[in-house]
Amino acid sequence: TPDPTLRPDRQPEDTDRALRPQMLDEFIGQHEARANLKVFIQSAKMRGEAMDHTLFYGPPGLGKTTLAQIMARELGVGFRMTSGPVLAKAGDLAAILTNLEARDVLFIDEIHRLNPAVEEVLYPALEDFQLDLVIGEGPAARTVRIELQPFTLVGATTRLGLLTTPLRDRFGIPTRLQFYTEAELCEIVARGARLLGVPADDGGVLEIARRARGTPRIAGRLLRRVVDFALVEGDGTLHRAMADSALTRLGVDHLGLDSADRRYLQLLADHYGGGPVGVETIAAALSESRDAIEEVIEPFLLQQGLLARTPRGRMLTQASWRHLGLTPPRPAGQ
Ligand code: ADP
Repeated sequence: TPDPTLRPDRQPEDTDRALRPQMLDEFIGQHEARANLKVFIQSAKMRGEAMDHTLFYGPPGLGKTTLAQIMARELGVGFRMTSGPVLAKAGDLAAILTNLEARDVLFIDEIHRLNPAVEEVLYPALEDFQLDLVIGEGPAARTVRIELQPFTLVGATTRLGLLTTPLRDRFGIPTRLQFYTEAELCEIVARGARLLGVPADDGGVLEIARRARGTPRIAGRLLRRVVDFALVEGDGTLHRAMADSALTRLGVDHLGLDSADRRYLQLLADHYGGGPVGVETIAAALSESRDAIEEVIEPFLLQQGLLARTPRGRMLTQASWRHLGLTPPRPAGQ
């Protein structure tokens, strides 16, 4: 099984706030999103109103939660956090909504996994800051309307396509987060090393940035692991050779692919002649959920040109055959 420390999903150590940027100006990358948010935050403050509902979408670990927290801090309002799967009943959401103070930010992670009954309650709350609750059952049931304080919902999802249209339409500010460039990740790693108090040279920083799968969460994790090796087996400083040997030992290759990524590519090469293969087949063969494949593994491979999605399924590209050190089979008839 793949080393969980290398996956971009949330892990317990992410609650460690040491590396999390606190304000918009400390947040590196996502220039377009950041510039727009700056305007919307400023405008909401000038109007003295709750900021418009905002949706962040993109692969895990790119900064959706961080931006939601920053928004609350920049707006000078309270921050409440929950997630789609946690809100099982309409009452769970009602309890949170009725406790919000004026202009607070409510963050709902994995909002594509909201129960439909909960989503129904959310619509009037988003539109009119009203809650329609059904009390009792059968003929005695009645609806009570509760006025809410105006608030800002910030939703986050890795799967925009799984959001229902009515929910998606209620976000005034939909914002897509992109994978980070090598230069941006260098800034993030250098900042992290500074905050951890570890001397790092440019070569060491670059080596980690290059192998972080375009993802700040992974950059932070790789940095911590390299620092462990540097402290215990090195001279306590982070330089290129140290980073390279530590990352190689962790199974992270020069493109940043980890064992799960390579297992995926290798499966397509070894068993399906490079594809096309349907995603369900791949998920079954790897004993991974289809969601994990589509949310965690594939986005980076697609972005790197190591994978192609065709109507008939997933296919390896020339670049992935090269990366695996294999020769692609010749197409039939040539
Ligand atoms: P998401 O909610 O998209 O899964 P998070 O907001 O939890 O991602 O970010 C994951 C980690 O990456 C956090 O620990 C945060 O410190 C770090 N991070 C995210 N974006 C940035 C950034 N732009 N600059 C520095 N660190 C970042």
